[in-house]
Amino acid sequence: MKIGIIGTGYVGLPTGVGLAELGNEVVCIDREISKIEALRNGKLTIYEDGLEELFRKNVANGRIKFTTSMQEGVAGADLVIIAVGTPPHPVTKEADMKYIHAAATELAEYLTGYTVIANKSTVPVGTGDDVESLIRKKNPNAEFDVVSLPEFLREGFAIHDFFNPDRIVIGANSERACKLLRELYKPFEHKAKILCVGRRSSETIKYASNAFLAMKIHYINEMADFCEKAGADIYEVANGMGLDSRIGAKFLNPGPGYGGSCFPKDTNAMAYMGRQNGVNLSLIETAIKGNEMRQKQMAERILSKLPDDECLPKIAVLGLAFKGGTDDCRVSPAMAIVENLLNNREAQIVAFDPKAMNNAKKVLGDKITYAEDAYAAAKDADVLAILTEWEDFKHLNLKELKMLMRKPVIVDLRNLLNPQAVRAEGFDYSRIGQA
Ligand code: NAD
Repeated sequence: MKIGIIGTGYVGLPTGVGLAELGNEVVCIDREISKIEALRNGKLTIYEDGLEELFRKNVANGRIKFTTSMQEGVAGADLVIIAVGTPPHPVTKEADMKYIHAAATELAEYLTGYTVIANKSTVPVGTGDDVESLIRKKNPNAEFDVVSLPEFLREGFAIHDFFNPDRIVIGANSERACKLLRELYKPFEHKAKILCVGRRSSETIKYASNAFLAMKIHYINEMADFCEKAGADIYEVANGMGLDSRIGAKFLNPGPGYGGSCFPKDTNAMAYMGRQNGVNLSLIETAIKGNEMRQKQMAERILSKLPDDECLPKIAVLGLAFKGGTDDCRVSPAMAIVENLLNNREAQIVAFDPKAMNNAKKVLGDKITYAEDAYAAAKDADVLAILTEWEDFKHLNLKELKMLMRKPVIVDLRNLLNPQAVRAEGFDYSRIGQA
């Protein structure tokens, strides 16, 4: 199948590489010239486990190409996937549709023959209708269907998730479009449920799923706070809860709050849609407020460990990405906690992240300093805070850390370290949801 993908970011690029690996001819389009130039020069623009190998293979065999030209990607395509950003509006927090509308308008004139336009971006209910009318207005004779094809990949696992989907949701009001997409995903039909639903239902499934997951995270975080006060252990509690198949064991890991480019944006967009439709989505509204508050509380935990003396305290921060396995810092709880630290106490902050330093520097600039590894960050620190769940941080050499730090204090907001081992080494060690 010939496929054009508009938007070559965290969704568009892994999707393009995955579809090429399945044997399709893929053209990835992006308006950012530097991105396309880098990809054409064989340089990946995002970090994703397993992406590099498949990218090189499919570039070499010519199944994936990169362009800034809409015409090159759209003309002759059987399927055009829209994977541009839908960031939150700065004031209302509703999903900003300007990139979607621009993509729909720009692609319209290049459609040749019957084409399915699939919205992979997370978009408000009714966007399929808007995209359809924008295309129709620009190119009244075009033969096309617009479908909703929500993306459920997890950053850090994008390639794994592409090849091992739980479900593929196709929101189509046309049998012909549904058939084409079923054909595309045929290689997965033995392992994933392929669900054909109405377009508006499909658009809602994506938001309803992300909002539910965000609420589940917020719920277990509140339970973790309760466990700390009540002398219970959040892992024993989560295990006991998760054995109930109605609850499920996943997403019961306590931490510093949900983040990333999806959950905060999508919960806000869903809450906005609720208000627009006169529906009280109180659970989602509460999770949003509670999660924002949590990042302040996490910063307070770290600050409470600093000495009260006159010296400028030093905080070592391990992790800036919103989660392990990605270089993405968008709406990262780690970054929000760093900002809160900076706002609440004069302190020197030295941070290290294995993959996200460049992205973090674009946001935090010289407000903090950056170390080349965890030990360099820990040197002379009064407290070391673990903010992202990188595998490497699980294996820190505790003896070396203790020698390097001014005070042996660790606040582990990802519960990565073994409490017995850390405390046996003489650290003041605190974590989430356990006394
Ligand atoms: P991103 O910002 O990484 O990538 C979007 C890309 O689209 C950018 O490279 C931008 O230059 C390009 N673009 C914008 N307008 C364009 C146009 N008119 N023509 C060509 N290129 C254009 O965004 P992302 O993280 O890949 O997210 C894309 C969508 O997928 C969003 O709606 C998001 O909510 C959704 N989504 C993201 C994830 C995730 O984990 N990142 C998961 C599921 C769904």
